Amino acid sequence: MKNPVLVVDFGAQYAQLIARRVREAKVYSEVVPSDMSAAHMLSREPAAIILSGGPASVYAQGAPQVDKAIFEAGVPVFGMCYGFQAMAKALGGTVEQTGLSEFGGTQLDRSGPSVLFGQTPQAQSVWMSHNDSVTVAPDGFTVTASSAGATVAAFEDTTRRLAGVQFHPEVGHTDFGQEILSHFLYDIAGLAPSWTADSIIDEQVAKIRQQVGDKKVLCALSGGVDSSVAAALVHKAVGDQLTCVFVDHGLLRAGEREQVEKDYASITGIDVRTVDASEQFLSALAGVTDPEQKRKIIGREFIRTFEKAARDLSAEKDIEFLVQGTLYPDVVESGGGTGTANIKSHHNVGGLPEDLKFDLVEPLRTLFKDEVRTIGLQLGLPESLVWRHPFPGPGLGIRIIGEVNRERLETLRAADAIARAELTAAGLERDVWQFPVVLLGDVRSVGVQGDGRTYGHPIVLRPVSSEDAMTADWSRLPYDLLSRISTRITNEVREVNRVTLDITSKPPGTIEWE
Ligand code: GLN
Repeated sequence: MKNPVLVVDFGAQYAQLIARRVREAKVYSEVVPSDMSAAHMLSREPAAIILSGGPASVYAQGAPQVDKAIFEAGVPVFGMCYGFQAMAKALGGTVEQTGLSEFGGTQLDRSGPSVLFGQTPQAQSVWMSHNDSVTVAPDGFTVTASSAGATVAAFEDTTRRLAGVQFHPEVGHTDFGQEILSHFLYDIAGLAPSWTADSIIDEQVAKIRQQVGDKKVLCALSGGVDSSVAAALVHKAVGDQLTCVFVDHGLLRAGEREQVEKDYASITGIDVRTVDASEQFLSALAGVTDPEQKRKIIGREFIRTFEKAARDLSAEKDIEFLVQGTLYPDVVESGGGTGTANIKSHHNVGGLPEDLKFDLVEPLRTLFKDEVRTIGLQLGLPESLVWRHPFPGPGLGIRIIGEVNRERLETLRAADAIARAELTAAGLERDVWQFPVVLLGDVRSVGVQGDGRTYGHPIVLRPVSSEDAMTADWSRLPYDLLSRISTRITNEVREVNRVTLDITSKPPGTIEWE
């Protein structure tokens, strides 16, 4: 994408959040690592550069620095916390450990007029997290705010289009953070709020047309938001050059196949071919209880099924491209280069054999989930699909503890449908990020139903709230809703005589049970 606002990541906890906030201001932004050379950054012709926070101390050995070349090139720069300190140091100011640290909510006092702060109050609450402080601002800068622990808490030099703050404008706890960021983007850097859903769609459609030309494209539809939006974009770009394959692995939730085959296909007009492979998946899963093994089997069978469908279709038409719903956070994470622990093997359509070589079309590569949703709505996809909770590829297979079989799937499907319907009826669907309903297939519990003893299975409700699935907390659903779900499940689902609620955050508990 042209002229991005580059967020230089100094190891901040919130670098991606900064990029999101910039995008919320309708300006396109990307995260880049701090070891990227200034020449490389400048070659992207950035509209502005934001320097993020970070754990290091600017004077420490090996601490990442800002190359002065960036300032000399005349690019507008905004430093936040570590970025503010690094900027001060690079331009001749002083950064010291004054012994005054500030963590958390802090009062900030403004002084004099400021383009960065605009009309925001003289005293305002900001979020701080620092041990070091800028004690002398570089030449040419006006100090515009201070706090008890930072005499120079903000500075600006609007002629050179530079500004910096000791606090974190990107977090919600900073009362006027978004306003301050917008002042930097619009009033200091002089950017226009032009990155909108329509402009994103136009840009992607043009890009897809250019990449694909008149060739044929294949997409594995999962029923989820990402692949649905990716396919809709590709369809808008190249119409019936696109064919989608939807694998029914028998581990879907109630109504999902119908939603894809009927609702989605009829709205978009996309050619969707369903492959019913439930027999194949269930026999491969027979007797398997280990979660990792389940995931591997499901992944393997998926590839096999998809591969066969791709071969069949390739015989019919010459397919050269494969659509993938890769999102921006995946791109940033895999580019990070740090070896993250393999907590769970992820299931995707990678790993296709050599002779089935497709070029990838990834129209969501630059987008965050919330942006994908906005675009989905703009493309006319139904809200029920666009706001669907994430439902990982292995489906109900990893929501049954113990062996997966038809009977257990039916039980879980019924319980899950009740939980989802009640959540929707309560209007709380969007407050919950994901809502696994888990069947403890290998656990039995005693109940009393109709004056008789029952020996059934417990169901676990696992509603979680999250911004991005990296961390999550259990959702505080209203008691009366939980009670309705519990009563309906035990009344309507025969095998279940107990409903429990999972109140574990992530970490330590992952969102899914397996
Ligand atoms: N490590 C620096 C300090 O303690 C910057 C901290 C930050 O960026 N949050 O002052």
